[in-house]
Amino acid sequence: MAERLPIAAPPGDASDAARLRFRDPQRARALAGRLRELADRRSHDPVSLMHVCGSHEQAIARFGLRGLFPPSLRVIMGPGCPVCVTDVPEVDEAVALARQGIPIATYGDMLRVPGSAQSLADARAEGATVHVVYGVDAAVALARETQGDLVFFASGFETTAVATAAALLAGPPANFSVLSAHKYIPPVMEIVAEMPDTRIEGFLAAGHAATITGWGVFERFVLRHRLPVVVAGFEPLDILAGLVQLLELVLEGRPRVVNAFPRCVTREGNARAQETLWRVFRPMGGQWRGIAHVPSGNLRLREEWAGFDARRRFEIDASELRDRAPAGLAAACRCGDIMAGLASPADCRLFGRECLPASPVGACMVSSEGTCRIQHEYQGHPRWEAAP
Ligand code: SF4
Repeated sequence: MAERLPIAAPPGDASDAARLRFRDPQRARALAGRLRELADRRSHDPVSLMHVCGSHEQAIARFGLRGLFPPSLRVIMGPGCPVCVTDVPEVDEAVALARQGIPIATYGDMLRVPGSAQSLADARAEGATVHVVYGVDAAVALARETQGDLVFFASGFETTAVATAAALLAGPPANFSVLSAHKYIPPVMEIVAEMPDTRIEGFLAAGHAATITGWGVFERFVLRHRLPVVVAGFEPLDILAGLVQLLELVLEGRPRVVNAFPRCVTREGNARAQETLWRVFRPMGGQWRGIAHVPSGNLRLREEWAGFDARRRFEIDASELRDRAPAGLAAACRCGDIMAGLASPADCRLFGRECLPASPVGACMVSSEGTCRIQHEYQGHPRWEAAP
């Protein structure tokens, strides 16, 4: 089922020259021309394709690829930003722990994600201890340096969850625990595909996640929903070539999985990483912010890891935060509709007005991988002057 792209570099060739081959303007123009030619074959509604990865959206924005897409093609960012889909009660748990005096370590993007009444940044401003770390290893190192408890508020998809799992398997100190908000991408594609108003005709899947899961993980989805999936990398030519292949499959009515990132992704994926992931985590149903309950979409620690599970180690009472939730702007946030492909940031009346990167109302404006944040940064709105 997998197909090779003509632009593929020799395996292991990581030189600048090889990287630049994936940014060749001439090839990009040729692929953009092919996209236009294909999309224009559609005489009625535009073709709607969805990618589920903030890194894809960042690359599309950074390299100005959207300007190459023809009007008859809509490329929509789905629920591909892990910070954006971290649900309000999950943020509340972290804030409640911080307010109870338990030091928290988390990624910088998670700091300003709004909970019911507060973000972790708000809690920190009121005296709670919240550390920003670049990875789980730094959180473990912090725990080793201290006597008291340290909770790592862990977010991210399966790529990041593997790192959290590896840290637990490596034997962290006893004062370390994990509050998992990790999510698993394949099940949410099912949810989007089943939404009654969806017009998505094919999915561009994230190459980095597929290096772990393998592209074979999408075969069941394709069989079930009769929608094609193309796994793509993150260089401009990777994305353009992936979209060309996806558009061809849509127009030819051939639902199948194509691996357009063969220099990194195999059908089976990384068996060792999968074993690491599933030894520590189990999938369970949970709410993704603004989208829906996603069966098997949340990754939670297995019973064997209860001693490192902050939810079982501490009494977390977030009721006070829920009671204090202010009515107001947040109700107008359309993050969920945007991530489901049913609206765009421009459809939100707060976009670029009350909701800005410096004062986000919704999670999609917080993360550098959020649709609203990316569109605000790259599409003609004044650049954010404050430090990220
Ligand atoms: Fe939500 Fe802000 Fe985006 Fe509107 S602009 S959908 S309030 S994050």
